[in-house]
Amino acid sequence: MRALTWHGEKDIRVSEVPRPEIVEPTDAIVEITATAICGSDLHLYNDRMPGMREGDVLGHEPMGEVIEVGDEVESLEPGDRVVVPFTISCGSCWFCEEDLYSLCDNSNPNAEMARKMMGQSPAGLFGYSHLLGGYAGGQAEYLRVPYADVGPITIESDVSDEEVLFLSDVFPTGYMAAENADIEPEDTVAVWGCGPVGQFAIQSAQMMGANQVIAIDRVPERLEMAGEHGDAETINYEHADVYDRLMSMTGGRGPDRCIDAVGTEAHGTGLDGVSDRVKEGAKLQDDRPYVLREAIKCCRKGGTLSVPGVYLGRANIPFGSLMNKAITVKTGQTHMQRYLDPLLGKIEEGEIDPSFIISHQVGLEDGPEMYQTFNDKEDDCIKVVMTP
Ligand code: NAD
Ligand code: ZN
Repeated sequence: MRALTWHGEKDIRVSEVPRPEIVEPTDAIVEITATAICGSDLHLYNDRMPGMREGDVLGHEPMGEVIEVGDEVESLEPGDRVVVPFTISCGSCWFCEEDLYSLCDNSNPNAEMARKMMGQSPAGLFGYSHLLGGYAGGQAEYLRVPYADVGPITIESDVSDEEVLFLSDVFPTGYMAAENADIEPEDTVAVWGCGPVGQFAIQSAQMMGANQVIAIDRVPERLEMAGEHGDAETINYEHADVYDRLMSMTGGRGPDRCIDAVGTEAHGTGLDGVSDRVKEGAKLQDDRPYVLREAIKCCRKGGTLSVPGVYLGRANIPFGSLMNKAITVKTGQTHMQRYLDPLLGKIEEGEIDPSFIISHQVGLEDGPEMYQTFNDKEDDCIKVVMTP
Protein backbone atom coordinates (compact mmCIF):
# COMPACT_ATOMS: atom_id res chain seq x y z
CA MET A 1 0.00 0.00 0.00
CA ARG A 2 1.02 3.65 -0.29
CA ALA A 3 1.90 5.68 2.79
CA LEU A 4 3.68 8.89 3.77
CA THR A 5 6.97 8.00 5.43
CA TRP A 6 9.58 9.94 7.44
CA HIS A 7 13.20 10.08 6.32
CA GLY A 8 14.71 12.88 8.43
CA GLU A 9 14.41 16.63 8.64
CA LYS A 10 12.04 18.02 5.97
CA ASP A 11 12.17 14.70 4.11
CA ILE A 12 8.71 13.10 3.75
CA ARG A 13 8.12 10.58 0.95
CA VAL A 14 5.31 8.59 -0.62
CA SER A 15 6.42 4.98 -0.19
CA GLU A 16 5.19 1.50 -0.90
CA VAL A 17 4.97 -0.33 2.48
CA PRO A 18 3.44 -3.64 3.60
CA ARG A 19 -0.30 -3.48 4.22
CA PRO A 20 -1.04 -3.84 7.97
CA GLU A 21 -2.52 -7.06 9.33
CA ILE A 22 -4.34 -8.05 12.52
CA VAL A 23 -1.65 -8.74 15.14
CA GLU A 24 -3.68 -8.90 18.36
CA PRO A 25 -7.26 -10.21 18.70
CA THR A 26 -8.27 -6.69 19.87
CA ASP A 27 -7.07 -5.04 16.60
CA ALA A 28 -9.08 -3.73 13.68
CA ILE A 29 -7.91 -2.76 10.18
CA VAL A 30 -9.34 0.46 8.77
CA GLU A 31 -9.27 1.49 5.11
CA ILE A 32 -8.57 5.22 5.26
CA THR A 33 -10.95 7.61 3.47
CA ALA A 34 -9.60 10.89 4.88
CA THR A 35 -6.50 11.79 6.89
CA ALA A 36 -5.07 15.14 7.98
CA ILE A 37 -1.68 16.70 8.66
CA CYS A 38 -1.39 18.08 12.21
CA GLY A 39 0.76 20.81 13.74
CA SER A 40 2.22 17.97 15.82
CA ASP A 41 3.47 16.37 12.59
CA LEU A 42 5.55 19.50 12.06
CA HIS A 43 7.64 18.59 15.12
CA LEU A 44 8.55 15.40 13.22
CA TYR A 45 9.00 17.25 9.93
CA ASN A 46 11.43 19.61 11.67
CA ASP A 47 13.12 16.63 13.37
CA ARG A 48 12.47 17.77 16.95
CA MET A 49 11.01 14.49 18.25
CA PRO A 50 13.34 11.78 19.52
CA GLY A 51 12.71 8.15 18.55
CA MET A 52 11.88 8.57 14.84
CA ARG A 53 13.30 5.99 12.45
CA GLU A 54 13.75 6.19 8.71
CA GLY A 55 10.67 4.82 6.93
CA ASP A 56 8.22 5.34 9.83
CA VAL A 57 4.65 5.77 8.55
CA LEU A 58 3.27 9.16 9.61
CA GLY A 59 -0.16 10.44 10.56
CA HIS A 60 -2.55 10.41 13.49
CA GLU A 61 -5.75 12.11 12.27
CA PRO A 62 -7.48 9.42 10.17
CA MET A 63 -10.94 8.06 9.51
CA GLY A 64 -12.27 5.36 7.25
CA GLU A 65 -14.08 2.06 6.94
CA VAL A 66 -13.43 -0.99 9.10
CA ILE A 67 -12.51 -3.88 6.80
CA GLU A 68 -11.39 -6.51 9.31
CA VAL A 69 -11.60 -7.09 13.08
CA GLY A 70 -9.77 -9.40 15.48
CA ASP A 71 -11.61 -12.20 17.31
CA GLU A 72 -12.06 -10.23 20.53
CA VAL A 73 -13.38 -6.99 19.01
CA GLU A 74 -17.01 -6.51 20.05
CA SER A 75 -18.03 -2.97 19.19
CA LEU A 76 -16.95 -2.82 15.53
CA GLU A 77 -17.61 -4.88 12.43
CA PRO A 78 -16.53 -4.67 8.81
CA GLY A 79 -18.36 -1.89 7.01
CA ASP A 80 -18.49 0.46 10.04
CA ARG A 81 -17.48 4.04 9.35
CA VAL A 82 -15.13 5.25 12.09
CA VAL A 83 -13.00 8.19 13.19
CA VAL A 84 -9.82 7.00 14.92
CA PRO A 85 -8.48 9.17 17.79
CA PHE A 86 -4.74 9.85 17.79
CA THR A 87 -4.09 8.35 21.22
CA ILE A 88 -4.10 4.59 21.81
CA SER A 89 -5.69 3.46 25.07
CA CYS A 90 -6.29 -0.01 26.52
CA GLY A 91 -9.46 1.06 28.36
CA SER A 92 -8.76 -1.07 31.41
CA CYS A 93 -5.64 0.19 33.23
CA TRP A 94 -5.85 2.49 36.27
CA PHE A 95 -5.39 5.61 34.12
CA CYS A 96 -8.03 4.67 31.52
CA GLU A 97 -10.48 3.87 34.31
CA GLU A 98 -9.85 7.36 35.71
CA ASP A 99 -10.69 8.81 32.23
CA LEU A 100 -7.02 9.76 31.78
CA TYR A 101 -6.84 7.97 28.44
CA SER A 102 -3.78 9.72 27.04
CA LEU A 103 -1.84 8.42 30.05
CA CYS A 104 -2.73 4.77 29.40
CA ASP A 105 -0.24 2.41 31.03
CA ASN A 106 -0.50 -0.43 28.52
CA SER A 107 -0.51 1.06 25.03
CA ASN A 108 3.16 1.92 24.65
CA PRO A 109 5.20 -1.22 23.93
CA ASN A 110 8.35 0.91 24.23
CA ALA A 111 7.40 2.28 27.65
CA GLU A 112 10.88 1.56 28.99
CA MET A 113 12.40 4.12 26.60
CA ALA A 114 9.86 6.74 27.71
CA ARG A 115 10.36 5.89 31.38
CA LYS A 116 14.09 6.56 31.10
CA MET A 117 13.32 10.07 29.88
CA MET A 118 10.18 10.95 31.82
CA GLY A 119 9.97 8.55 34.76
CA GLN A 120 6.69 7.16 33.39
CA SER A 121 5.28 6.59 29.95
CA PRO A 122 2.27 8.34 28.41
CA ALA A 123 -0.01 6.44 26.01
CA GLY A 124 1.16 5.21 22.62
CA LEU A 125 0.27 7.43 19.66
CA PHE A 126 -0.23 6.63 15.99
CA GLY A 127 2.65 7.68 13.74
CA TYR A 128 4.53 9.48 16.47
CA SER A 129 7.94 7.90 17.06
CA HIS A 130 9.23 4.77 18.73
CA LEU A 131 9.37 6.66 22.01
CA LEU A 132 5.55 6.68 21.91
CA GLY A 133 5.01 3.15 20.73
CA GLY A 134 6.40 2.91 17.19
CA TYR A 135 2.89 2.50 15.73
CA ALA A 136 2.46 3.01 11.99
CA GLY A 137 0.33 6.08 11.31
CA GLY A 138 -2.77 6.87 9.32
CA GLN A 139 -1.38 8.89 6.39
CA ALA A 140 -1.70 5.67 4.45
CA GLU A 141 -4.23 3.55 2.62
CA TYR A 142 -4.79 1.23 5.60
CA LEU A 143 -4.24 1.45 9.37
CA ARG A 144 -3.97 -1.15 12.10
CA VAL A 145 -5.94 0.08 15.12
CA PRO A 146 -4.99 -1.59 18.43
CA TYR A 147 -7.57 -1.79 21.26
CA ALA A 148 -10.24 -1.23 18.61
CA ASP A 149 -13.08 -1.38 21.16
CA VAL A 150 -11.68 1.59 23.05
CA GLY A 151 -10.62 4.20 20.48
CA PRO A 152 -12.61 4.53 17.27
CA ILE A 153 -16.01 6.23 17.27
CA THR A 154 -18.61 4.89 14.83
CA ILE A 155 -20.38 7.48 12.67
CA GLU A 156 -23.92 6.38 11.92
CA SER A 157 -25.41 9.60 10.58
CA ASP A 158 -24.76 10.95 7.10
CA VAL A 159 -22.42 13.77 8.17
CA SER A 160 -19.51 14.15 5.74
CA ASP A 161 -15.95 13.00 6.37
CA GLU A 162 -14.88 16.65 6.42
CA GLU A 163 -17.31 17.42 9.27
CA VAL A 164 -16.23 14.57 11.56
CA LEU A 165 -12.56 14.00 10.66
CA PHE A 166 -11.26 16.47 13.22
CA LEU A 167 -12.77 14.43 16.05
CA SER A 168 -9.54 12.44 15.54
CA ASP A 169 -7.55 15.17 17.29
CA VAL A 170 -7.74 18.93 16.84
CA PHE A 171 -11.40 19.55 17.78
CA PRO A 172 -11.22 17.61 21.08
CA THR A 173 -7.75 19.07 21.67
CA GLY A 174 -9.00 22.65 21.33
CA TYR A 175 -12.00 21.75 23.47
CA MET A 176 -9.93 20.19 26.26
CA ALA A 177 -7.61 23.20 26.12
CA ALA A 178 -10.57 25.49 26.81
CA GLU A 179 -11.92 23.14 29.50
CA ASN A 180 -8.50 23.07 31.16
CA ALA A 181 -8.52 26.86 31.23
CA ASP A 182 -11.47 26.75 33.72
CA ILE A 183 -13.35 29.48 31.84
CA GLU A 184 -16.01 31.43 33.73
CA PRO A 185 -18.58 33.81 32.20
CA GLU A 186 -16.79 37.07 33.01
CA ASP A 187 -13.44 35.83 31.73
CA THR A 188 -11.13 37.19 29.09
CA VAL A 189 -9.37 34.31 27.35
CA ALA A 190 -6.18 34.88 25.33
CA VAL A 191 -5.26 32.19 22.80
CA TRP A 192 -1.74 32.13 21.35
CA GLY A 193 -1.67 30.39 17.94
CA CYS A 194 -4.49 30.41 15.37
CA GLY A 195 -3.69 27.09 13.76
CA PRO A 196 -6.35 24.35 13.88
CA VAL A 197 -5.89 23.74 17.63
CA GLY A 198 -6.11 27.46 18.38
CA GLN A 199 -9.20 27.85 16.17
CA PHE A 200 -11.01 25.07 18.06
CA ALA A 201 -9.83 26.43 21.42
CA ILE A 202 -11.33 29.79 20.44
CA GLN A 203 -14.62 28.21 19.32
CA SER A 204 -14.75 26.14 22.50
CA ALA A 205 -14.02 29.12 24.75
CA GLN A 206 -16.97 30.88 23.11
CA MET A 207 -19.18 27.79 23.63
CA MET A 208 -18.15 27.80 27.31
CA GLY A 209 -19.39 31.37 27.61
CA ALA A 210 -16.18 33.44 27.77
CA ASN A 211 -16.86 37.17 27.93
CA GLN A 212 -14.02 38.04 25.54
CA VAL A 213 -11.62 35.94 23.44
CA ILE A 214 -8.37 37.41 22.11
CA ALA A 215 -6.45 35.54 19.40
CA ILE A 216 -2.73 36.04 18.79
CA ASP A 217 -0.78 35.01 15.66
CA ARG A 218 1.06 36.62 12.78
CA VAL A 219 -0.54 34.86 9.81
CA PRO A 220 -3.24 37.24 8.47
CA GLU A 221 -5.69 34.61 7.16
CA ARG A 222 -5.51 32.66 10.42
CA LEU A 223 -6.22 35.83 12.42
CA GLU A 224 -9.06 36.62 10.04
CA MET A 225 -10.57 33.18 10.62
CA ALA A 226 -10.29 33.66 14.40
CA GLY A 227 -12.13 36.96 14.04
CA GLU A 228 -14.81 35.85 11.62
CA HIS A 229 -15.47 32.27 12.69
CA GLY A 230 -14.40 32.54 16.30
CA ASP A 231 -15.71 36.02 17.06
CA ALA A 232 -12.34 36.82 18.65
CA GLU A 233 -10.48 40.09 18.83
CA THR A 234 -7.05 39.69 17.29
CA ILE A 235 -3.45 40.74 17.84
CA ASN A 236 -0.84 40.34 15.12
CA TYR A 237 2.32 39.88 17.17
CA GLU A 238 4.48 41.16 14.35
CA HIS A 239 2.73 44.51 14.45
CA ALA A 240 2.07 45.00 18.16
CA ASP A 241 3.61 44.28 21.52
CA VAL A 242 1.47 41.44 22.83
CA TYR A 243 1.97 42.26 26.52
CA ASP A 244 1.10 45.94 26.06
CA ARG A 245 -1.97 45.16 23.94
CA LEU A 246 -3.28 42.53 26.34
CA MET A 247 -2.81 44.84 29.30
CA SER A 248 -4.66 47.66 27.60
CA MET A 249 -7.48 45.32 26.54
CA THR A 250 -7.95 44.05 30.10
CA GLY A 251 -7.72 47.26 32.09
CA GLY A 252 -4.15 46.45 33.13
CA ARG A 253 -5.05 43.18 34.84
CA GLY A 254 -4.11 40.66 32.14
CA PRO A 255 -6.23 37.87 30.62
CA ASP A 256 -7.85 35.58 33.20
CA ARG A 257 -7.19 32.48 31.10
CA CYS A 258 -4.30 31.94 28.70
CA ILE A 259 -4.03 29.12 26.18
CA ASP A 260 -0.75 28.22 24.47
CA ALA A 261 -1.85 26.54 21.22
CA VAL A 262 1.58 26.96 19.63
CA GLY A 263 4.05 24.69 21.41
CA THR A 264 7.65 24.09 20.62
CA GLU A 265 7.62 25.60 17.10
CA ALA A 266 6.95 29.14 18.42
CA HIS A 267 8.66 32.01 16.65
CA GLY A 268 10.32 34.80 18.57
CA THR A 269 13.14 35.12 21.03
CA GLY A 270 11.07 35.61 24.15
CA LEU A 271 13.97 37.57 25.55
CA ASP A 272 12.91 40.96 24.22
CA GLY A 273 12.95 43.45 27.03
CA VAL A 274 14.88 41.18 29.37
CA SER A 275 18.06 42.92 30.50
CA ASP A 276 21.44 41.29 29.88
CA ARG A 277 21.99 41.11 33.64
CA VAL A 278 18.75 39.15 34.16
CA LYS A 279 19.44 36.95 31.13
CA GLU A 280 22.86 36.15 32.50
CA GLY A 281 21.63 35.61 36.09
CA ALA A 282 18.75 33.36 35.03
CA LYS A 283 20.79 31.72 32.27
CA LEU A 284 18.09 32.65 29.77
CA GLN A 285 19.81 31.83 26.51
CA ASP A 286 17.47 29.39 24.85
CA ASP A 287 15.11 31.19 22.47
CA ARG A 288 12.32 28.68 23.16
CA PRO A 289 9.63 28.34 24.45
CA TYR A 290 8.71 31.88 23.55
CA VAL A 291 4.92 31.61 23.91
CA LEU A 292 5.00 29.89 27.30
CA ARG A 293 7.13 32.68 28.68
CA GLU A 294 4.99 35.38 27.13
CA ALA A 295 1.77 33.79 28.40
CA ILE A 296 3.15 33.52 31.93
CA LYS A 297 4.14 37.18 31.77
CA CYS A 298 0.70 38.28 30.50
CA CYS A 299 -1.60 36.02 32.55
CA ARG A 300 -3.37 37.81 35.40
CA LYS A 301 -2.35 36.94 38.96
CA GLY A 302 -4.27 33.86 40.09
CA GLY A 303 -5.21 33.02 36.48
CA THR A 304 -4.95 29.79 34.52
CA LEU A 305 -2.54 28.75 31.80
CA SER A 306 -3.69 25.86 29.63
CA VAL A 307 -1.06 24.30 27.38
CA PRO A 308 -2.25 22.03 24.56
CA GLY A 309 0.90 23.05 22.61
CA VAL A 310 3.37 20.18 22.48
CA TYR A 311 6.78 20.59 24.13
CA LEU A 312 9.66 18.19 23.71
CA GLY A 313 12.44 17.91 26.23
CA ARG A 314 13.36 20.82 28.47
CA ALA A 315 11.52 24.10 28.48
CA ASN A 316 13.11 27.23 29.83
CA ILE A 317 10.25 28.78 31.80
CA PRO A 318 10.18 31.38 34.61
CA PHE A 319 8.87 29.13 37.34
CA GLY A 320 9.34 31.95 39.83
CA SER A 321 6.74 34.04 37.99
CA LEU A 322 4.28 31.14 37.98
CA MET A 323 4.77 30.67 41.70
CA ASN A 324 4.64 34.32 42.71
CA LYS A 325 1.65 35.06 40.47
CA ALA A 326 -0.11 31.89 41.70
CA ILE A 327 -0.90 30.74 38.17
CA THR A 328 -2.48 27.31 37.68
CA VAL A 329 -1.03 25.34 34.77
CA LYS A 330 -2.89 22.51 33.05
CA THR A 331 -1.52 20.56 30.12
CA GLY A 332 -1.32 17.13 28.48
CA GLN A 333 -2.17 15.14 25.41
CA THR A 334 -5.93 15.07 24.96
CA HIS A 335 -8.00 12.44 26.78
CA MET A 336 -9.83 11.78 23.53
CA GLN A 337 -12.46 9.27 24.66
CA ARG A 338 -13.96 11.80 27.06
CA TYR A 339 -14.93 14.10 24.19
CA LEU A 340 -15.81 11.92 21.18
CA ASP A 341 -19.49 11.34 21.93
CA PRO A 342 -20.36 14.84 23.18
CA LEU A 343 -18.51 16.59 20.35
CA LEU A 344 -20.00 14.30 17.69
CA GLY A 345 -23.35 15.32 19.19
CA LYS A 346 -22.52 19.02 18.70
CA ILE A 347 -21.59 18.35 15.05
CA GLU A 348 -24.72 16.30 14.36
CA GLU A 349 -26.93 18.92 16.02
CA GLY A 350 -25.39 21.60 13.81
CA GLU A 351 -23.85 23.56 16.69
CA ILE A 352 -20.47 23.48 14.94
CA ASP A 353 -19.16 22.41 11.53
CA PRO A 354 -15.43 21.75 12.03
CA SER A 355 -14.76 21.64 8.28
CA PHE A 356 -14.32 25.45 8.28
CA ILE A 357 -10.59 24.97 8.94
CA ILE A 358 -9.90 22.96 5.75
CA SER A 359 -7.84 24.92 3.25
CA HIS A 360 -6.42 22.08 1.11
CA GLN A 361 -7.87 18.75 -0.05
CA VAL A 362 -5.42 16.59 -1.99
CA GLY A 363 -4.38 13.00 -2.65
CA LEU A 364 -1.73 11.16 -0.64
CA GLU A 365 0.82 11.72 -3.42
CA ASP A 366 0.72 15.47 -2.72
CA GLY A 367 1.52 14.87 0.97
CA PRO A 368 5.24 15.70 0.88
CA GLU A 369 4.59 19.05 -0.80
CA MET A 370 1.70 19.75 1.59
CA TYR A 371 3.97 19.20 4.63
CA GLN A 372 6.18 21.97 3.34
CA THR A 373 3.26 24.28 2.51
CA PHE A 374 1.65 23.73 5.94
CA ASN A 375 4.96 24.14 7.75
CA ASP A 376 5.77 27.40 5.97
CA LYS A 377 2.18 28.71 6.33
CA GLU A 378 2.16 29.35 2.56
CA ASP A 379 -0.78 29.45 0.15
CA ASP A 380 -3.24 30.36 2.96
CA CYS A 381 -2.73 26.83 4.28
CA ILE A 382 -4.54 26.15 7.56
CA LYS A 383 -5.46 22.45 7.39
CA VAL A 384 -4.61 19.79 4.84
CA VAL A 385 -6.90 16.80 4.31
CA MET A 386 -5.71 13.92 2.14
CA THR A 387 -7.88 11.24 0.57
CA PRO A 388 -5.80 8.12 -0.06
P1 NAD B 1 -0.02 25.03 13.60
O1 NAD B 1 1.44 24.97 13.36
O2 NAD B 1 -0.93 25.00 12.42
O3 NAD B 1 -0.38 26.35 14.41
C1 NAD B 1 0.51 27.01 15.26
C2 NAD B 1 0.26 28.51 15.11
O4 NAD B 1 1.06 29.22 16.06
C3 NAD B 1 0.65 29.06 13.74
O5 NAD B 1 -0.45 29.71 13.15
C4 NAD B 1 1.80 30.02 14.03
O6 NAD B 1 1.85 31.12 13.15
C5 NAD B 1 1.49 30.43 15.47
N1 NAD B 1 2.62 30.99 16.21
C6 NAD B 1 3.94 30.72 16.09
N2 NAD B 1 4.66 31.47 16.94
C7 NAD B 1 3.77 32.23 17.63
C8 NAD B 1 3.92 33.22 18.62
N3 NAD B 1 5.11 33.57 19.08
N4 NAD B 1 2.78 33.82 19.10
C9 NAD B 1 1.55 33.47 18.63
N5 NAD B 1 1.35 32.54 17.66
C10 NAD B 1 2.47 31.94 17.17
O7 NAD B 1 -0.36 23.85 14.61
P2 NAD B 1 -1.72 23.24 15.24
O8 NAD B 1 -2.11 22.04 14.46
O9 NAD B 1 -2.72 24.29 15.48
O10 NAD B 1 -1.14 22.71 16.63
C11 NAD B 1 -0.76 23.64 17.63
C12 NAD B 1 -0.01 22.95 18.75
O11 NAD B 1 -0.88 22.01 19.39
C13 NAD B 1 1.22 22.15 18.29
O12 NAD B 1 2.25 22.29 19.24
C14 NAD B 1 0.72 20.73 18.30
O13 NAD B 1 1.77 19.80 18.48
C15 NAD B 1 -0.19 20.77 19.51
N6 NAD B 1 -1.16 19.67 19.61
C16 NAD B 1 -1.35 19.16 20.84
C17 NAD B 1 -2.24 18.14 21.05
C18 NAD B 1 -2.49 17.62 22.43
O14 NAD B 1 -3.09 16.56 22.60
N7 NAD B 1 -2.11 18.33 23.46
C19 NAD B 1 -2.93 17.61 19.96
C20 NAD B 1 -2.74 18.17 18.70
C21 NAD B 1 -1.84 19.21 18.54
ZN1 ZN C 1 -2.65 15.98 15.69
